[in-house]
Amino acid sequence: MKMITSLLAAAAISVASFVAPSFAQDKGMVGISMPTKTSTRWISDGETMEKLFKEAGYTPDLQFADDDIPNQLAQIENMVTKGAKVLVIGAIDGTTLSDILQKSADAGVKVIAYDRLIRDSGNVDYYATFDNFQVGVLQATSLVDGLKAKFPDTKPWNVELFGGSPDDNNAFFFYDGAMSVLQPLIDSGDIVIKSGQTGMETVGTLRWDGAVAQARMENLLSSTYTDGRVDGVLSPYDGLSIGILSALKGVGYGSGDQPMAVVTGQDAELPSVKSILADEQYSTVFKDTRELAKVTVGMVNAILDGKEPEVNDTKTYDNGVKVVPSYLLKPVAVDKSNAEQILVTDSGYYTADQIKN
Ligand code: BGC
Repeated sequence: MKMITSLLAAAAISVASFVAPSFAQDKGMVGISMPTKTSTRWISDGETMEKLFKEAGYTPDLQFADDDIPNQLAQIENMVTKGAKVLVIGAIDGTTLSDILQKSADAGVKVIAYDRLIRDSGNVDYYATFDNFQVGVLQATSLVDGLKAKFPDTKPWNVELFGGSPDDNNAFFFYDGAMSVLQPLIDSGDIVIKSGQTGMETVGTLRWDGAVAQARMENLLSSTYTDGRVDGVLSPYDGLSIGILSALKGVGYGSGDQPMAVVTGQDAELPSVKSILADEQYSTVFKDTRELAKVTVGMVNAILDGKEPEVNDTKTYDNGVKVVPSYLLKPVAVDKSNAEQILVTDSGYYTADQIKN
């Protein structure tokens, strides 16, 4: 009898171990909707999540929406139809998703806003992002540090401001964070916005488009800087910085006796890291997207285990309908002095070879 029992037990174990892999694989589908592939950060966000979700036993459905709102809506709708249990959404326009999120809520699907807040909907369960106000503070602080280092004797400094996409909630946080540092210096006369162009409605850059930023910088140079020079440019994203730098280089900045203006950025994208090491772009803000992906996968695990995901901010992100419980990661300022240390040595985000010019 004892032997039969142990034989049965062994058989049960072997059946269990036989079926276990497919069982473990079957935690359900997670829809990952990323806004665009034009910036490498979103590709890396999407691919890191895809990998981590697979490792955790989920079936991820990763889609990129090419910065096209109807495309993103259709992709999300399709995920819901296919039975996604959770949606992780990096919105193109954070105000356009209310209808589809109502449908997903009706189907019992949970929603995590990824990096960008989804606005005007009660059906957003959690928000995983970086401290976006702090991103702006870091950008402006490094702009001022750069002005002090490069142009110590030529105050007031002429500065121009660029904002991110006005349909992205983050853009306002970046701008407000930056202005919390710059406004006192504008008020004291240390910084002059020579064009007079301020405020997100004036300096915003729809869809974070580098070509749009380049065209605006070219206009500013020809309208406002036929005499005098621009000393610094607040740029909220590396893709815009590249366009701004092209406009500046186009009229001779960074060559001969015309020093390059101090230009900031965000995301530590490779072309910008190289540009920083080549003394063109002054700084960027590093946000480790692998960490954001990890936090998000952790949130999904908790939700589907019926637990409360860990959050560290329940006050800041009011989406117009509710304050969305958030987990904020810390952004890090990067310039030539610490780029290799932070991006290669400490984090391994890049290899030493990758950042070589
Ligand atoms: C992200 C930034 C990014 C920008 C443009 C923002 O929502 O937070 O990291 O630079 O979008 O893609």
